[in-house]
Amino acid sequence: MSNQLVIENVNKQFGAVQVVKHVNLSIPEGKLVCFLGPSGCGKTTLLRMIAGLETPTSGRLTMAGKDLTNVPACERDFGMVFQSLALFPHMSVAGNIAYPLRLRKVDKQSQEKRVDELLQLIQLPHMANRPVAQLSGGQRQRVAIARALASAPKLLLLDEPLSALDAKLREAMQVEIRLLQQRLGITTIMVTHDQREAMTMADVIVVMEQGRIAQIGSPLEVYRDPVNEFVADFIGLGNILPAVPNGDQRVRLAGGQQIDISGSRKISDGQEIRLLIRPEDVCLKISEAVGHKDLQSSIRNDNNNCLPGQVSFIRDVGSSLEATIDCSGFSLTVATSPREVPGLAIGSQVLATLPPHACKLIDASPGRLAA
Ligand code: ATP
Repeated sequence: MSNQLVIENVNKQFGAVQVVKHVNLSIPEGKLVCFLGPSGCGKTTLLRMIAGLETPTSGRLTMAGKDLTNVPACERDFGMVFQSLALFPHMSVAGNIAYPLRLRKVDKQSQEKRVDELLQLIQLPHMANRPVAQLSGGQRQRVAIARALASAPKLLLLDEPLSALDAKLREAMQVEIRLLQQRLGITTIMVTHDQREAMTMADVIVVMEQGRIAQIGSPLEVYRDPVNEFVADFIGLGNILPAVPNGDQRVRLAGGQQIDISGSRKISDGQEIRLLIRPEDVCLKISEAVGHKDLQSSIRNDNNNCLPGQVSFIRDVGSSLEATIDCSGFSLTVATSPREVPGLAIGSQVLATLPPHACKLIDASPGRLAA
């Protein structure tokens, strides 16, 4: 039978403050779902309600059709890893992993067998007897996950499990957890405020804003087709430019530039819109190299979408390069590489082309534009 978790119109109020608002969500089985959003948007509270550590003010949670809303945490069969990990530092690795099995009074032999399996899974069989206090951050992380998996939970809940790790180890653990989750096929929900982490690990991202779900989609959907300015801004770098509709497939930017877009969007009267273009979609050329005559024809050929500008800032990290281009009325961030635009420097005169298919119109306020 399906073990799908369904969240129906769940609300949570602390005193007079409503921190989770009308959340409706189905968690697909076997997938990794990330709750992503800025600090205070309610993602941990939502996770804690799923875990049974908070009770919804209204709404319900079901799994396999069974109402879970008032089932205590210890009866839900979910594994949880907290930000703090909450391991027992002086207990051994094996002792920590066996802890939930001891609580459930699993017999000694089955405990040992399960602990051995999990030690293999997290690749720490040689550390079974070492006290947790003598492990590295990444090893502790793995032990916490093994402990959460000990009683073969139906759902794995991870609350910012990597936030205490340094950047490099954090990236390595993102891959490790993702591979483990895929190998076991265990339905997992992870809370994070790090959009790169969500993009790297998730099958589905649930973007939250002020207690509500702003968008649900695959990492690419939310990156490529955000429903509004909030999501566009939260998911990765983006150029989000105030724009005014000027005909069916054209907008006017702050400096008066006309930009063609492909695909029409219905825009209602008075609706405030933005033009979104991701930095890697902007094509950059040094205009001195193009020459004045070529520049004019290039502007004509690209259907208005070729904007002259000047480089005001460069962040060159070797493999990639990010440039800020001052155009008249606004600036653009462009991601490129030193190889693609050799000789690019602060002060360079450039041409930035915005391909019509990469230009998306988004709503300045929450709510999806009708396609
Ligand atoms: P962060 O990333 O900072 O953990 P979050 O998105 O997980 O943020 P929550 O921890 O769910 O946010 O908190 C949402 C709001 O609810 C915050 O304003 C927080 O102060 C408030 N809150 C959370 N728990 C309680 C509580 N037990 N009592 C009162 N207010 C609470």
